[in-house]
Formats: sequence, structure tokens, C-alpha cells
Amino acid sequence: MNRIFGGISELYTPRVRLQQAALALENGWLVWVGQETDLPDRYRTWERFDLGGRGVVPGIVDAHTHLVYGGDRLDEYLRRARGESYEAILAAGGGIYSTVRATDAASEEELYAQARGRAEKFLAAGVTTLEIKSGYGLEPQAELRMLRVIQKLKQTLPQHVFPTLLAHVVPRGWERQKYVQMFAQELIPEVAQAGLAEAVDVFCDQGAFTLSETRKILEAALANGLKTKVHAEQIVHTGAARLAAELGALSADHLEQTTPDDWQALASSGTVGTVLPGAAVILRKPFPNIRAMWDAGVKVAIATDHNPGSSPLFSPWLGMQLAISLGPLTAEEALTAHTSHAANALGRGDLGRLEVGSRADFVVMDSPHALKPLYHWGDHPIHAVYVNGSSILRQTPGA
Ligand SMILES: [Zn+2]
Repeated sequence: MNRIFGGISELYTPRVRLQQAALALENGWLVWVGQETDLPDRYRTWERFDLGGRGVVPGIVDAHTHLVYGGDRLDEYLRRARGESYEAILAAGGGIYSTVRATDAASEEELYAQARGRAEKFLAAGVTTLEIKSGYGLEPQAELRMLRVIQKLKQTLPQHVFPTLLAHVVPRGWERQKYVQMFAQELIPEVAQAGLAEAVDVFCDQGAFTLSETRKILEAALANGLKTKVHAEQIVHTGAARLAAELGALSADHLEQTTPDDWQALASSGTVGTVLPGAAVILRKPFPNIRAMWDAGVKVAIATDHNPGSSPLFSPWLGMQLAISLGPLTAEEALTAHTSHAANALGRGDLGRLEVGSRADFVVMDSPHALKPLYHWGDHPIHAVYVNGSSILRQTPGA
């Protein structure tokens, strides 16, 4: 289906800002982007939709979420607010382990319905692509169950979904070495063969996996044709960011404890550095030095890290606002980090940008100013959200 969207007061590609812009779409792909007065004649016969002088940005890409889980951790949030540490709660069998128990108690249908409800909130915030990790199963059958739920989300959500198998922590009752061996030699090949994940991620940190265990798991992922990601340098510095760079991982995520050497390694390998402002601020951890990373040449992405414990964050805009204030990044850099750079963290050069050859995923603001949601804290003035050129969310009638 061919169509033109015109009447765009301001459009971020995100790299370039265009005024009085238009988009030409063919079957959900962008074939032309520019100022409407420059629209070539061959497109002028196509059906034209007028966006009424509104601002437009690319669909937001959330490249790091733990969207599927049972239960909640409100109680833990209140305890942490009183000063208990995330690490101490995890070591005492709470934290991730309490979500594992609640996830186990929920049926596949319940897990699906709850995650779908969360995905709808993300859609209302303009998120058109979601990476979703397993990792609250731990036991191999339970991880496969989580991946089946993610598969069903992928088949039914209007958004693009990128499924990731996550090695989160060693389950209770397992000998570490045996668990790592099972994960690398049995679970990863089975997941790869069934097409249940596109990438494998490892939580490499104190209380989770060591650097050498992480390497074993990621090398198994590569050997099975899967891409890799790492939860790196969040609580303590482990060397995981440099390992990610060495293995050509799609991304190294968190990065609160990284050093200039780590930034250099990420910049030279092209591995995206994904920062998670929600987790850093909610856990009262040092904020990652995003400015220095960006200036060192790291391709920086921002993600929500949505999960029931360390980051119960539903708003990508709040993550961008924290990065603007504390990074500090410019507003245009923050938008780039949550759109095109975030798409690179999923190996998807066709998402998160409004350029010729990209998917027509975009967010229409209820304002002529495309960056208004970065200015209004706690308010998302979004008029409509499009995925593959089709409107999947319209907040107000008309236009
Ligand atoms: Zn995470």
C-alpha cells in the first residue's frame, strides 16, 4: 500500500531535524523522507494523510526489558527505600529469586496476559520495538516456558519483538559448573534450534555469573548462531564490557562502573553501550558517565530495563530525561540513544530511524513540537503511534 504522510511541522530522523516534512511509504517501508515542497512528482498521486501540523519522531526502541514476570516487588522497593541494599536482599534469597518463585506460580496464560498489558503501556508511550528477555525461569524447562510466552508476544503484539535468552543467576540447588555447562551445551542449542531467541545475554556481576562463566555461555551462543549481549559493570567492575567488545556483542548494558579503557574497547568494536538510567537512579547507584562515553566514541543507547525489582520503569521518556539531566546529554542525543542507537543494539539498522529503507514506525505528538515529551516530565503528549505505516494507537479522534 502506497501513501504519503504530510503536514508534519517538525520531524527528527533522529539525526536530522526537518521542518514542514513528509514521508512516502510503500508497504510499510519508507521510500522518501524530506520537506514536503520537495516531494517528487511520482509520489504526488499517492493517497495523502495530513498529520495536522504535528511533530514526529521515530518509533521508540526499548532494547533492554524483562517484560515477562509474575508477581511484584513492591515490598522490596519499600525496604530499599528504607536503606536495605539490592545485593543483600538478593544474597538472602529475595530479589531475582522472589520473582522466579512468583513466575513459577503463574500459568503461561497469566504471564502472557500480564506482559501484554505492560506492552500496551509501552505502546501508549510510543515504544514500537521491545527486546524481551527470559531469565526468571532459571531451570531449563522454566526458561523455555518463558521464551514460549515471549514467542506468543512476538506473534500477537503490534510492536516488533526481539527475544533474548538470559542467564540471570545460578538457581538454588545447582552446582555452578554444572549449571553453566547445561546452559551452554544443552539449553542454548535447544533454544537456537527452536528459533526461540535471537540473542543470549548473561548477568555478569557479583552474585550472578563470573567473567569466565560469562565467556563460556556467550561463546556457546556464537557457536549456535545467536547474537550476544551482556549485563556488564553494574554493581562491581568485572571486565564484562571488554569481553562484550572482544566477542563483537550487540551491546554491553548497564555500565555504571566502566572505565575509559572499557569505553575505548566498546568504541573500537562498535558494540553498543546501553545505559539504563532507571536502574541506576532507583537503586541509588552512581549514574553512568554517559557524556564521557559518548565523547569517547561509544554508540550509546538508552533503555528502560523494565523489571519488577531494580527498574519498574514504564516510561522511555523519563529515562531520556534522566540522561539529559544527569548524563548529561542533549535532548537530540537522548532521542538518538532511544531510537537509532537502540535499534543497533538489536542489530536492526531498519528500525528506530525515519530514513529511506527504514520501517515506517513513528510517533505523532499532540503538539507541533516533536520533543515536547522530553520537556513535559510525567506527561506523554502523544497523538498516534504507527508501526509498519499502520496506525496502531490513536489517542484522540480525527486527523
Ligand atoms: Zn536487565
